[in-house]
Amino acid sequence: MDTFVVRRARPAELSDAADVAVAAFLADGPLSHDQRLLADAVAAGEVDEVFTAMTTDGAIAGTACLLPSKSEHSHVAELGERELRLLAVAPEHRGQGIGEVLLHGCAWHAAFEGASELVLSAQPTRTAARKLYERLGFERLPNREWHRDGIDLLVYGLLIEPKCGHCGRPLAEGGHEECVRLLVMEPPRFCTVCARRMIVQVTPAGWTARCVEHGTVGN
Ligand SMILES: [Zn+2]
Ligand SMILES: [Zn+2]
Repeated sequence: MDTFVVRRARPAELSDAADVAVAAFLADGPLSHDQRLLADAVAAGEVDEVFTAMTTDGAIAGTACLLPSKSEHSHVAELGERELRLLAVAPEHRGQGIGEVLLHGCAWHAAFEGASELVLSAQPTRTAARKLYERLGFERLPNREWHRDGIDLLVYGLLIEPKCGHCGRPLAEGGHEECVRLLVMEPPRFCTVCARRMIVQVTPAGWTARCVEHGTVGN
């Protein structure tokens, strides 16, 4: 089984990431106006929070945007939350568990940024995706449901209690000033979601870190 690394997309990869997302959505049906707008913004380099699941040979197997509430492309995120949008698995990489890889990796990166909840919108008819969200601990947020293009959208949220990547203690406990300073220079040692110690590798491009439960992330 391949190991996929979930990391922030490099600027040179943004156009390919947008293509992967569009191809993935088109494989399932028409693209909404809203999805097209975001994909175009990603391709144009206008979205800072683009993440990809990369194969070991450097192909983009999946994409996700992890948007803060202030982003013009977020719909349901509130202050302190991150909204997952354009969550997509390349058609040629389906059936390899990459949806789960992306969700775990994005939860890790959201926690690394100190977010308290990961939220996303889902079409009611996407039962496979909804089952995956529920299996990973996402819960329905009925009072935040909304609609787009005549389709009612469900909203799911995953509560996060972010841990410090350097010392593993909850970020909310405070006293992490030195950790934050070190994390600029050193790879994280602890999973920011579950606080397990991770297996860290320094690579020419930066670092990767693997949690047995939350998969492999990189910078
Ligand atoms: Zn710390
Ligand atoms: Zn973990």
